[in-house]
Amino acid sequence: MTFRAPVSEYEFLLSTVIGFDQIAQTDRFSEASSDLVTAILTEAGKLCDEVMAPLQRGGDLQPAKLENGVVRTSPGFGEGFKAIAEGGWIGMSAAPEHGGMGLPMTLTAAVNEMMSGACLSLQLAPLMSQGQIEALEHHASDALKEMYLPKLISGEWTGTMNLTEPQAGSDVGALSSKAEPNGDGSFAVTGQKIFISWGDNDFGGNICHLVLARLPDGVPGTKGISLFLVPKYLPNADGSLGAANTLGVVSLEHKMGLHGSPTCVMQFDGATGWLVGPEHGGMAAMFTMMNNARLGVGGQGVGAGEGAYQQAMAYALERKQGKTPSGSIADHADVRRMLMEMKADTYASRAIMLACAHAIDMGNATDEADWKARAAFLTPISKAFGTDTGIRVADLGIQVHGGMGFIEESGAAQFLRDVRVTSIYEGTNGIQAMDLVARKMMDGGDMAHRIIDEIEAQAEGARATHPNMGEAVWQACESLRETTEWLVEQEDLQDRFAGAVPYLRAFARVLGGHYHLSAAIADKGGPREKLARFYIKRLLPEHAGLLTHVQEGAASTMALTLEELAG
Ligand SMILES: Cc1cc2nc3c(=O)[nH]c(=O)nc-3n(C[C@H](O)[C@H](O)[C@H](O)COP(=O)(O)OP(=O)(O)OC[C@H]3O[C@@H](n4cnc5c(N)ncnc54)[C@H](O)[C@@H]3O)c2cc1C
Repeated sequence: MTFRAPVSEYEFLLSTVIGFDQIAQTDRFSEASSDLVTAILTEAGKLCDEVMAPLQRGGDLQPAKLENGVVRTSPGFGEGFKAIAEGGWIGMSAAPEHGGMGLPMTLTAAVNEMMSGACLSLQLAPLMSQGQIEALEHHASDALKEMYLPKLISGEWTGTMNLTEPQAGSDVGALSSKAEPNGDGSFAVTGQKIFISWGDNDFGGNICHLVLARLPDGVPGTKGISLFLVPKYLPNADGSLGAANTLGVVSLEHKMGLHGSPTCVMQFDGATGWLVGPEHGGMAAMFTMMNNARLGVGGQGVGAGEGAYQQAMAYALERKQGKTPSGSIADHADVRRMLMEMKADTYASRAIMLACAHAIDMGNATDEADWKARAAFLTPISKAFGTDTGIRVADLGIQVHGGMGFIEESGAAQFLRDVRVTSIYEGTNGIQAMDLVARKMMDGGDMAHRIIDEIEAQAEGARATHPNMGEAVWQACESLRETTEWLVEQEDLQDRFAGAVPYLRAFARVLGGHYHLSAAIADKGGPREKLARFYIKRLLPEHAGLLTHVQEGAASTMALTLEELAG
């Protein structure tokens, strides 16, 4: 299947819907002119189409494997990673002082999404490094920054993130890995980590593990956790690779998809590491990495959805069944329904992800608390809605293929198998939704209401040119506002949590309506207006059922005893 990176879609979104010029007007990002944006998207698109997309099937059919304790990556992945690194794509948003390009996160999010559509399992490798780079930039000592950042940014070395242990998944505070001071400023890290993405590779450089562990005086729970940088090889003073550290890959997980990405069980046996951030401040440091990764994982969902849509569309145009004007199944109303949903929701989730990245950039450029709060609010929505959309779109892609969708050779199933994990890792989507209705509403729902106000104002203004669409979005805002008020009044968090997932989805539905309406206004009479009408009339109404669900609270969800539930 030929993949075409959605470059023109990004140009439209950035210039017309998301307001990228606002970012470019800040001092920090003043060099990000529209010409530069076009050049970057075009170059990245070429890499996706010509280098990464051809690796997608091979990664599935010839998974990474473990040979004598060393990971051998899928054919072509080493060259693919090198091409990503040489293009400077890993350090796009990293600080220039260590070799990064200092570009807005909005552009990195766009490029990452296009790469995910081309080859998700390979794209996860640079995404891990990017998260580590950001964590080190914010929290590491100058010595660690000097040693590690230039090499992570250039792609000579790669980064991983080690939180999960068998008994500590969502409950990170339950981890039992330990770190003891060596007396020379370094620490001996001991423990086992599971599910570590790209825990090893054969790309030739060092592999730098960020590991959460507890110091001897660390209290139980998340407050007693510290973060350590533990490299596979201990670097010499000149940055060359020194002795092997006492860590290794125990085994690789056998997964339902994402086969090109080696998911490792890692063992650390008194491995030498260095503290990143303050003692017992590991969670705060790790959150820098996780927030970056959450936006990136949301983008993985969007990208996989784009890939699945392109493949399904191409198949639908070729496949002939029944009598239709064009002869292809693409003219059957039910097939159209699926293709339209795929396209409309991919657009909505992409716009939400970009709005989140835009808020991150504005927060970084202006240091204004309002932008930071907006970015924090949109992060769980981008992650969960992006990944849920990728999964739904990939599933519909299989349905469009009919029986061929179930046959591996078509490649349609791989999109679903690969993207399925994205709603699980980087904090499950359930945890994202709980974060939204609890931590992100500690302001009494202020940020939620401000976003709703903005959407409602746009809908009000659109009544003149797009009365039906404007009215539908306006009404949806009113329902969302009422449920938001109800939600913040619930003091028993269980009542919020029982409806957290439907609330997050309803919020995303309304945001999607907002961005589709923007497209409709910009493209009156054109295809974007037609797509917006489909979304607003057919997909947006889902919010009403979701919000009814939210206002049920926890009582009916928790009504059965566990014995009754299991019986
Ligand atoms: C392919 C793959 C790659 C991964 N890569 C990495 C990596 O690079 N680094 C890393 O550290 N980890 C990684 N992970 C681990 C991943 O982040 C965890 O699987 C995830 O955080 C969930 O933890 P868990 O699997 O233990 O599930 P559990 O925490 O056991 O969750 C099971 C279910 O219970 C729910 N649940 C749990 N706690 C709560 C709660 N308090 N409230 C409500 N619901 C709850 C969850 O939402 C989920 O539905 C990876 C996992 C996979 C499968």
